This record gives sequence, structure tokens and C-alpha cells, in this order.
Amino acid sequence: MSFTSLGLSQVLLKALADENYSQPYPIQKETIPAILRNKDVLGIAKTGSGKTASYVLPILNNLKSNTPHKNRHIKVLVLVPTRELASQVEEVFSTFAETLPDRVKTLAIFGGVSINPQMMAMNGVSILVATPGRLIELEESNAVSLSDIDTLVLDEADKMLNLGFKYEMDRIFALLPKKRQNLLFSATLSKEVENIKELLLNKPEVIKIESKEEETELIDQLAYAVEDSRKGPLLRYLIKKNNLKQVLVFVSSAFKADGVANKLCRNGIHAVSTHGKKSMNSRSESLRRFKTGKIRVLVTTDLLARGIDIEFLPYVVNYELPRSPKDYVHRIGRTGRAESPGEAISFITPDDEHHFKVIQKKMKKEIKMVDSSDFDLQGY
Ligand code: AMP
Repeated sequence: MSFTSLGLSQVLLKALADENYSQPYPIQKETIPAILRNKDVLGIAKTGSGKTASYVLPILNNLKSNTPHKNRHIKVLVLVPTRELASQVEEVFSTFAETLPDRVKTLAIFGGVSINPQMMAMNGVSILVATPGRLIELEESNAVSLSDIDTLVLDEADKMLNLGFKYEMDRIFALLPKKRQNLLFSATLSKEVENIKELLLNKPEVIKIESKEEETELIDQLAYAVEDSRKGPLLRYLIKKNNLKQVLVFVSSAFKADGVANKLCRNGIHAVSTHGKKSMNSRSESLRRFKTGKIRVLVTTDLLARGIDIEFLPYVVNYELPRSPKDYVHRIGRTGRAESPGEAISFITPDDEHHFKVIQKKMKKEIKMVDSSDFDLQGY
């Protein structure tokens, strides 16, 4: 099946071909026609499924860009949980918007950076991708009006709720016009997401994309039993001995991320840490350099575990296990996507053993454990 039968305009079909999107992903096959018919949609799909394009394309197709809109009155609002996801989604919008005959201005806004440039940039914006807190600040400063919105998208709604944005979201919902199209995406259908569905969606089409068996099969999972004091040397040993490149290492705190990255650097492995305590610019820059292969190891917290698409990421290391099995799945989901095989390695100390058993039970998968006590880590 090709994109041609989904109802998209010729310009967008050409743009898709230019981007080498030859066939729609499952979520796109179902979501694109539904959005084009102006239906509300609840999409249960994770990052990597192609969900961004599944709403970006039909929204651009439906935009009545010839009808002039009042300045600072945006037409499309996409709410996302993190700054990184805001930039990433805006990039997909602008890539496809550039090909349209009429100019469509898109903008990403998020906290952690100065508000003034965002206020200035709001002129003429039709499509706004925003994190909730900063959107409220801008709305309160009259830099943006939400009263003419045609389409509302909530992307990674479950994550937004987990991050405690419920209050901000409710405030934003109260500012929207009654008549609009609502598109809700979430990796899971929790009770809270159900509540939002009931509150916002009008007779939605529910589109659920089961994560394919092959996808998890693409991820080679392996665990090393290791004493806490030998974790650092073991990491450096594995990276050097197997000449690993583009390794994403997860730890449980910002402090730890800095420590692990420093030690790697001191041992001649180019590593950078990124986490919530770093500035937005530093975070974007680290991610960009890591994506393009300029940083060998990126050490991070769960900040990056969801919502960020890194193409062909070959290695994920759980230097420290996440508390919830769900986060484990999100972390390892960074690898082995889009038909590229990946490897997920977990370090298991004696204290972690019970918790790791729980994770495996939840995943219904047994992970091979290698005893690393015989490894000669001298000099690493
Ligand atoms: P997403 O789940 O939206 O983050 O998308 C995951 C990745 O798949 C992104 O790198 C997209 O550029 C890519 N992608 C999405 N749809 C397609 C498609 N139909 N063909 C090829 N690549 C795609």
C-alpha cells in the first residue's frame, strides 16, 4: 500500500517521496484518513511508530491557509511533555509545511529559555508546538490567543500527566473554543488518559497499534551481574573491547550522569552528560551531536527515555535500572527500531537482582545474564 490512497494532496505526496517515506506505517494508514475526515482520534502508539507524521500530514492537508487569521491567533496547537519533543515535532511540521504553496509558519515554544524571543517569533504563527507551562506564560502575556484553534493535539499525553502537567492542561483546555478537532496520542491507555479522552474527545476513532513482536525481537537484551564498584570499569571495558559507538547510558540521577561521563572522558572515551539540570541549549546541542555521531557516549537520566527519536541507535546501557518496568521498556525502546537491530545491556548488582526479576516477569521475557566477576578489568 502506498501513501497515494490515503487522500493526501499531490504536494504532500511529492514531499513524502522526497523524504523517502515510501509506504505508510500502520498508524499512518489508519490515522491519516480519519483526521482528513475531521474525526477526533485516540491513537495508542509509542514513539518510533511514525505517529508524528500520522497527524502532521493530515493537519497540513486540512489547513485552510488561504483564510487569513488574526495575528497571534494560532490555528493548530500541539501540546507535548518535553522541550526535546517540542523541537522534534516542530521540525516534522516545518519540513512538510515548507513544501506547501502558501506559507505556513510553525513554532516550538518551551520553558528553560528566555521568553522574549518566543514572544517576538509568535507573529504570523499558524501551528504552535508547546510544553504546557510556557504556553500558559505566553497566553497570560497576550503573546498568543487560543480562541481560534481548529485542531488540538496532545502528544504523549500519558507522559504529560506523569510529569504533573494536569493542572496546566486543564487551564489550557478551558481557553479553547468549543468546536475543534481533538487528537490524543499516548503510549498507554491509563485511567488518567481515559479521563482526558472522556473530557475532550467527541466520538473518537480509536486506533491502537500493538507493538510488533519483531520490534522487541530486534532488540538483543543482555545483562551483566556486576558488583557496584566494578560498574564503571565494566562499562569502559565493554565500550573499548567491542569498539562500541553511539552508546546511550542511563543512570538514575543528574549527579551520577555527570560522574559517569567524567570518568569515561578521563579514560579516553568521548562522553557527555545531559539531564534536566543542564540548559536547554546544552541539551539540544548534546543530542544533536550524539545523533550525528560526534559524541560517542551520551549519559542521561530518564529525561530522554521517551519521546525522542534517534535513528539507528545501536546501544543502550542501563548503568542503573529504572524503578518501573515501564521505564525499562521505554529505555530499551531507543534501540532496534525502524528495522535496525540494537543491543540493550543492563548492569545488575546483587541488590538489583530481585527488581530485575520483576522487570523480566512483566515483560514476559527472560534475559540472559552473564557473570562479569571473572572479567579482568585492570586498567579500565
Ligand atoms: P515517530 O514515531 O513519529 O517519532 O517516527 C519515527 C521515525 O520514523 C522518524 O524518524 C520518522 O522520520 C520515520 N518515519 C515515519 N513515518 C515513516 C514512513 N512512512 N516511512 C519511513 N520513515 C518514516
